[in-house]
Amino acid sequence: MIDQDTLNTLLLYAVTAFGAITAALWLGMVIWTWRDIRQRSRDPLAQIAAALVVAVLGVFGLIVYIMLRPTETLAEAYERSLEEEALLQNIEEKPLCPGCGRPVKDEWQLCPYCHTKLKKPCVSCDTMLELAWNICPVCATPQVAYETAAPDPVPAPGNPSAPIDDSPAPESEAVEFVENDSY
Ligand SMILES: [Zn+2]
Ligand SMILES: [Zn+2]
Repeated sequence: MIDQDTLNTLLLYAVTAFGAITAALWLGMVIWTWRDIRQRSRDPLAQIAAALVVAVLGVFGLIVYIMLRPTETLAEAYERSLEEEALLQNIEEKPLCPGCGRPVKDEWQLCPYCHTKLKKPCVSCDTMLELAWNICPVCATPQVAYETAAPDPVPAPGNPSAPIDDSPAPESEAVEFVENDSY
């Protein structure tokens, strides 16, 4: 037969064990919440609030926390922002011809579709330079000689009004006058 003292001792052990397990679970939940919220928020107020809710409400606090916590961890949010940035850069860095809007390559001197001049080679090292640059970023050679030579042939085909204003216009007028006189 079990006497009263033994029963009390067993009961005490049971209560102690139950209390220890409960305390360990409670501590585990609070620590887990603390670590989890620190991965999801840098706001110290939010971190303390989340840990407090779980500490005070226990399992129910944990359920509420899991329902309301930020969906993304900070690492995930950072990774996503990097991906978005890379996507944006891909879109921005795809060069388009200013003349016809078709995609062109960085190493092309002119657009093969509409013959718009895109780049110029360095007079010294043949690095492809932007048209506006007057010095080579690779060999530091000033591009003045090329600058003065290059614009001359470009307007001739692209801008028909320039050569006509110089000399052929009076000639054509003269021809017209002659023709008018002859009639
Ligand atoms: Zn083009
Ligand atoms: Zn150069």
